[in-house]
Amino acid sequence: MPYGYRGKILHVDLSSGALTVEEPPESFYRKYMGGQGLGMYYVLKGTSAGVDPLGPENVLALTLSVVTGAPVSGQSRVMANAKSPLTGGIGDAQAGGFWPAQAKFAGFDAFIIKGRAETPVYLWVCDGEAELRDAAHLWGKVTGEAEAAIREELGDPKIEVLQIGPAGEKLVPYACLINMANRANGRTGMGAVMGSKNLKAVAVRGNMRPEIADRKALSSIARWGAKKLPESSIANLSIHGTAGSVLAQNEVGGLPSYNWDSGVFGNPERLDGRTMSDTILKERDTCFGCVVRCKRVVEIQEGPYDVDPLYGGPEYETLGTLGTYCGVFDLAAVSKANELCNMYGLDTITTGAVIAWAMDCFEHGIITMDDTGGVALNYGDGDAVVRMTEMIGNREGFGDLLAEGMAQAAAELGPEAEELVTAVKGNPMPAHMPQVKRSLALIYAVNPYGADHMSSEHDPAYLAFPDRVAQFDLLDPQPVDVLNAEKVRYAMYTQRYYCLLNTIGVCQFVWGAAWQLYGPSQLVDMVRAVTGWRVSLWELMKVGERSLNMMRAFNAREGFTRAEDTLPPKLFKPLSGGPSDGVAVSKEEMGFAVPAYYAMCGWDSEGRPARPKLEELGLGWLAEELSCSSG
Ligand code: SF4
Repeated sequence: MPYGYRGKILHVDLSSGALTVEEPPESFYRKYMGGQGLGMYYVLKGTSAGVDPLGPENVLALTLSVVTGAPVSGQSRVMANAKSPLTGGIGDAQAGGFWPAQAKFAGFDAFIIKGRAETPVYLWVCDGEAELRDAAHLWGKVTGEAEAAIREELGDPKIEVLQIGPAGEKLVPYACLINMANRANGRTGMGAVMGSKNLKAVAVRGNMRPEIADRKALSSIARWGAKKLPESSIANLSIHGTAGSVLAQNEVGGLPSYNWDSGVFGNPERLDGRTMSDTILKERDTCFGCVVRCKRVVEIQEGPYDVDPLYGGPEYETLGTLGTYCGVFDLAAVSKANELCNMYGLDTITTGAVIAWAMDCFEHGIITMDDTGGVALNYGDGDAVVRMTEMIGNREGFGDLLAEGMAQAAAELGPEAEELVTAVKGNPMPAHMPQVKRSLALIYAVNPYGADHMSSEHDPAYLAFPDRVAQFDLLDPQPVDVLNAEKVRYAMYTQRYYCLLNTIGVCQFVWGAAWQLYGPSQLVDMVRAVTGWRVSLWELMKVGERSLNMMRAFNAREGFTRAEDTLPPKLFKPLSGGPSDGVAVSKEEMGFAVPAYYAMCGWDSEGRPARPKLEELGLGWLAEELSCSSG
């Protein structure tokens, strides 16, 4: 029995109904580890160029990793990869909760899903056994109802369910996967991919806990984290959740407001985590084995918006996209829209950003109430946000157009609407502003799955945590607010590190490059303790780099070039108000940064991984498939 992982991968062919188990050698696990790396291996091997993201040939990889389910904080994560129906490139999304650990205990390290069932089904996995079951009676149900129905028919309240909601069934290209009815693999439409396969859910339960190579060492790491937490830089995250950063973002002019026209908001305290804690917070929740307990659970029983605590509570990103992006400071309305997203299985970031973009179009007269079915899409109207979220989830009226995605809807409305888009590769920008965190300008542009805030370290950490940043050979950081070579290097190294985190499958609040509870050297210690492998930070960084290169190679195979690595027009226009008044990203710095980044990565001038780089990473098979240039 291997340490840490189960050594078994379940392949599911929904067209034939065949379930087969693969048992790869240890060397395979050490090379790809899990998560994004493992998922990319199977997506690349299992699909061909031009695959229809919503066709049966697309491969959906749901992956755990070599440390999932170990008794230490921040290890219960599930990663999803497939071709994205939103971007046309690689899709990638991660989630925490109890499903990932329970899936490992059910006996598998990954679920590789292809084909399309004739009628709706769900996958039931328990103690090393798996079966497909009829899900016709679950189709159309919102997530909370479907989860309860599955637990009841299988007779076990401890079953964990990862599923799609009605939005995934209706193939909304930014539909997400939901577990616990409130944890989301949010971005890039992995819910639509699962919906296109007629797969409603993956239910898991088991007692096959992984063996730990050095339980004493792991226990010492876990105890250190629990003791350090109250005095650590994530103590506030533990108390107020990610929602506790609304005020701080506003103070530096980095809180995207009014569809990104401004970095400040009039009433940030109304949405901040402290207000949430004082008013509607019912409890703090956690992921399997995590002492941080950063998840919010809110409940509202009075007023225009009742909110069921089953569906959790809004994160910082959600308070931004469904709140400040739309000029809404009504915490109850944002919490209601968040609940609806979790019920329907919609990515809150994309949903809020799309509605904010529509409000911008409404303000500019590009759309009118004739288009919206009588809904006045004015900034600040919480009712309109709640109504539009429902209409998107149901693909009803104007919601059906917004359900296609921001870039897709803008293309239908014309150039004026396209000027207002806030997306990269069709993926809307999350609530962290490249104008005030300049390395994000580069990362948003070049990230394989579009704008994403969880794929590199953000600029403030560059100066504030020199000891940890030094572990990446970034020894003397200078306070620069433009993309110079040093900042490009910082962005590139930490991007590889974040790919590593998404491959090992650990939470980025607990395990990180700088401000998090644990740093890189402790990550090495943790992987050693769980797996028994004598890994080094060098080896792990190569795992992350390998994962990033596989994603870029996937996009190159789909025809992506430098033309896709661009930012939307809004980022080049000066912001209005507050500390970031007048600030914009410049075309000159992007003109320097993108080619510099490609060169540092060992890619060609179009951003495609060149053969020598793929060979260096042990991906010669991929170079052959892509017929790469020799660099
Ligand atoms: S820090 Fe929060 S999101 Fe991360 S594992 Fe812990 S509870 Fe889950």
